[in-house]
Amino acid sequence: MRVGGVHHHRDVQDGTVRAAVFGISDGLVSNVALILGIAGASTDPSIVRVAGISGLLAGAVSMAAGEYVSLKAQKELVERELIIEQESIEDNFKAETAELVAIYEGRGVDSDLAEEVVKQIMSNPDVALDVHIREELGVDPAQLGNPVMAALSSFVSFSLGAFVPVVPWLAGGGNSAVWISAISGVTATAVVGAVLAVFSDRSVFRTSLRQMLIAAGACSATYLIGSFLGTNIG
Ligand SMILES: [Zn+2]
Repeated sequence: MRVGGVHHHRDVQDGTVRAAVFGISDGLVSNVALILGIAGASTDPSIVRVAGISGLLAGAVSMAAGEYVSLKAQKELVERELIIEQESIEDNFKAETAELVAIYEGRGVDSDLAEEVVKQIMSNPDVALDVHIREELGVDPAQLGNPVMAALSSFVSFSLGAFVPVVPWLAGGGNSAVWISAISGVTATAVVGAVLAVFSDRSVFRTSLRQMLIAAGACSATYLIGSFLGTNIG
């Protein structure tokens, strides 16, 4: 996006929003499919209700755990690299200087200018470490994210999405609940698809249509399989 003629990256702040929208989308699709599968197998609304709430909790917990583990691992990896890089800058100052010069030369900066820039960067140990980590690992050590917050955020967003198809089963049951569940799930999926399309600069119509078709396909498949299992096994 452009603000005041300067190009601004969306990654940092919008990355959190984007992750939340993906969480909502996952919750929606997986729980509407689960609920319709159970609804196909059983006409007892209390069973569908329990299954839907269990699906919400199980999915939200596993999403949160996955998010926590992966962010924590990434953080630990970068923290270890920070220590290694710091020692290397202290012990092999010349080699580390040359390494950075080579990186800038590789990007088309003239040798003299690259050397001058790197000399200034290397004169401040904190800046030197920060730049080395960014250039070599491709990450900003200051913006690694908080594993606990990320886990919490994916728990909440998955739950929000997964709750939508449960709603019709809280008070009702039968065919009307099946339809309301399916329609609200698929509609909400289309809305989420539209939001994701805006984030990734894609066609809103095509992305939400695609999301809708995927959700509708998943619902029909699990409903048919559930009906088959319900009449043949249950
Ligand atoms: Zn280095």
